[in-house]
Amino acid sequence: MAPSRKKPFMNRPVLRFAPSPNGELHLGHAYSALLNAQLARAAGGRFLVRIEDIDQARCNPALAAHALADLAWLGLTWEEPVRFQSAHLRAYHAALDRLRAMGLLYPCNCSRSTITAKANGACDPEGQPLYPGTCKHHPPSAGPLAWRIDMAKAGGPMDWGDVVLGRRDIGVSYHIAVVVDDALQGVTHVVRGKDLENATPIHHMLQRLLGLATPCYRHHDLITDAKGRKLAKSEGARPLRILREQGVTAKALRAELGFP
Ligand code: GLU
Repeated sequence: MAPSRKKPFMNRPVLRFAPSPNGELHLGHAYSALLNAQLARAAGGRFLVRIEDIDQARCNPALAAHALADLAWLGLTWEEPVRFQSAHLRAYHAALDRLRAMGLLYPCNCSRSTITAKANGACDPEGQPLYPGTCKHHPPSAGPLAWRIDMAKAGGPMDWGDVVLGRRDIGVSYHIAVVVDDALQGVTHVVRGKDLENATPIHHMLQRLLGLATPCYRHHDLITDAKGRKLAKSEGARPLRILREQGVTAKALRAELGFP
């Protein structure tokens, strides 16, 4: 039989937009979602939406539903079913358990104020106090608040310090859930904002340790306001809902962001 000229199905690019429903979607989210959908379409690939709602204290189902409604209003379509991370916690715990079994995690009981005091002004790429490894050298006696990865042992990026991968309150950290899901969903291209660029070396490390495929990463510029400041929920970026209520059409909004 003559070889088929068609690309095998497995080679189709898979892109995704993965919001955390801990606030309403704003223009920056719209840009990222539209960009991923456009790139997927242009490449004859697939476009997925994933709801990253493992932090149950900050995320809620109403916000997730609103996010999906906003994306539909923008004119986007995606493959169903949408993956909700809160429904797959066991998969993330299994990954955490594997790292623990590899001897790469250690328990930590330090409070935020202890860490701030001991960091001596040193900061991680997000400007948070750098963890000085206190519990690595003096294991805590009481049950841990968190599990940290020993970056030196794991061969990971040292600028983050020993990041928390497991937490007593939310169980697993975003870093674990995102790499497990990107692999499980066969995501080939991760296209996300520059605000996550610093986290990518952590994701590469986890993929290596867990034997997961590494997608291609590209980090797009962040949408800024008229004064050139990054739009963040905390800075009062207007939610898409408000723009919609003010009469902005999806077509006009897409055009403003540079999409047909
Ligand atoms: N859920 C993350 C966020 O909303 C994005 C994760 C990713 O794109 O890798 O910031």
